[in-house]
Amino acid sequence: MVCGAYIMKTIPIAKPFLGKEELEAVKRVMKSGILAHGPEVEAFEKEFAEYIGVKYAVAVANGTAALDLALKAIGVKEGDEVITTPFTFIATANAILFQRAKPVFADIDPKTYNLDQNEVLEKITNKTKAIIVVHLYGQPADMKAFKEIAEDHKLYLIEDSAQAHGAEFMGQKTGSFGDVAIFSFYPTKNMTTGEGGMVTTNNKEIADRVKLLRNHGQSEKYLHVELGWNLRMTSIAAAIGRAQLRKLDKFNEIRRRNAELLTRRLSRIRGITPPYVDPRVKHVFHQYVVRIEDDFPLSRDELQKLLREKGIGTAIHYPRPIFQQPLYKRLGYKQDICPNAIDASKRVLSLPVHPLVEPSDIEYIINSIQEIISLA
Ligand SMILES: *Cc1c(COP(=O)(O)O)cnc(C)c1O
Repeated sequence: MVCGAYIMKTIPIAKPFLGKEELEAVKRVMKSGILAHGPEVEAFEKEFAEYIGVKYAVAVANGTAALDLALKAIGVKEGDEVITTPFTFIATANAILFQRAKPVFADIDPKTYNLDQNEVLEKITNKTKAIIVVHLYGQPADMKAFKEIAEDHKLYLIEDSAQAHGAEFMGQKTGSFGDVAIFSFYPTKNMTTGEGGMVTTNNKEIADRVKLLRNHGQSEKYLHVELGWNLRMTSIAAAIGRAQLRKLDKFNEIRRRNAELLTRRLSRIRGITPPYVDPRVKHVFHQYVVRIEDDFPLSRDELQKLLREKGIGTAIHYPRPIFQQPLYKRLGYKQDICPNAIDASKRVLSLPVHPLVEPSDIEYIINSIQEIISLA
């Protein structure tokens, strides 16, 4: 829409927040000449472990690699079952397939969109080896319940914390509850390194195995004790990550403020349900996700289209549960399991909440929604 005096506002659904500190950090690495693994990566690992409150953090190339190596490190293998949520990014479940193990999907809690512990209990068999809990949209899952289940049934507990950097459950940071946890530093996440990932754990054996596997199974120079990959993080990524980590709490506070503003205004609009926040958690709003109910005058997809025309970026996390992905359909997964996940996939809509969204943007978003309703 171009008409001289009128410039359309655009509010993207995600945007990395980078400043002069990140630029200085990159310059520092370039001047040092150490571009791949080195002291910068080790410093990032140490600082990240301290921030999360764990003994070990191992930096890797991306969050998907972190999941793959975490599962490999705890020994998930062919014939094992791993229970997880179907309402997450595909990487969570694919990491299980990469071990030739079987992803078993349990349904979600329709209020939080996180795994429902009772559904998980029903899926446990004598082949179950582990549970991967995802802290979806930045809201911690019920880690008290999942720790108990894992202990009672002698299962490994893995946290996919790719969307929950700095989130807390009962005052404790996600990424410190499970036997092992993973983070992603993709540009849309709460902090970024471009591409990047981290494995966190209090278990030295697991940390050592991830270090070995990310680096060609090499225990000492040119001595390869097992089959590994090159999934190391670069020093440039680590330097950006160190600068971002120092800003993470600030970023999260802005996300939380934005979420509060959105919820305050949206709760008066019929047919839109703002996110439910478990009183025991610190939610870091990787995504701000509303649910479009039947009494809203438009469909979710119509609303998304009209918002796009007003320059407001939204997204659907996620448009289908993982078992309905063509890959999983081909693997023989039933298409009508986990009704709560199926229902959520038809109703959720993510609105911009990232730290570059300003209160005036939120006013614009709310006014736009009201205008769209009045014309419906
Ligand atoms: C982003 C994400 C991943 C994968 O991380 P990448 O760094 O993109 O490989 C895994 N799980 C969840 C829940 C994610 O959101």
